[in-house]
Amino acid sequence: MLKVEPAQGYPPEEGRYVRGNDYSPVAVCVILDTFDFAIPPELNGLVMSGVDSGAALSGILQTENTGLEKIICNIAANPNIRHIVLCGRESTGHLPGASLLALHQNGVDETKRIVGSRALTPYLYNIPAELTDRFREQIVSIVNLLCQPGEKDAKAPGLNPKVIEKAVWSCYQEKPVAFMDYTLYDMGAYAEPAIYHKIVSILNQPQQVIDQVSQPGRAKMDTGFLLHKLLPKTNCKECGKPTCLAFAIGLAKGKSRLEECPVLQQPEFAGDRQALARLLE
Ligand code: SF4
Repeated sequence: MLKVEPAQGYPPEEGRYVRGNDYSPVAVCVILDTFDFAIPPELNGLVMSGVDSGAALSGILQTENTGLEKIICNIAANPNIRHIVLCGRESTGHLPGASLLALHQNGVDETKRIVGSRALTPYLYNIPAELTDRFREQIVSIVNLLCQPGEKDAKAPGLNPKVIEKAVWSCYQEKPVAFMDYTLYDMGAYAEPAIYHKIVSILNQPQQVIDQVSQPGRAKMDTGFLLHKLLPKTNCKECGKPTCLAFAIGLAKGKSRLEECPVLQQPEFAGDRQALARLLE
């Protein structure tokens, strides 16, 4: 069975993941449905179950744009990875799990929007379309164990470490095995060479937002609605405003400052924060 060396410098993108066996055919993707400064222990436990049971990479996915871009970069850099086990609970804010499935099934359109994703900003601006195509070809199956938002039952498949371990085990069998509705095995490395692609600039917002905000004569209220597209949209109230939209309108009126949103200061939102800062200069 063909196994290859990952690209030099693999994995190119940093993140909240653990590196395991480079020759394993499977990565585990655990959806984060809370803030990244408060990752529930059970989700960290799923990440560790993934890597302990033999995954090449096992980690957390939070966003439908930069988070997915990093996964694509890291997987294209290791042709041995042919399956993804998707687990955890879907996040209603970003819909990253559904966006990953839509990306694999449909790809992106000419604006780099994930076709079929219902997330708010499912744009993959920071990677070439060819890399997305490569990811879709290299990954032969996404084992979808994702739970509904808010699922509390620890025995639900997507929250159950034993089920995830079995899914990982199934992916690296030499002969096909049945796992739930899937037939899984290790078919060996993808036949094309590893691709090393590192994201050099982060731009994860629709360019149209910048274009529209820049139009002369735009009312503050309209601008607030547009700025809102780049905010985390958790409505957590930590900025002192009742909603992200109220905060966005405050930004447009010059009555609020970006630093007042603690969620926006997290690394995952670096691209949005930079874009907002540019718009507000
Ligand atoms: S702090 Fe305010 S703007 Fe930031 S995510 Fe929470 S509600 Fe939205």
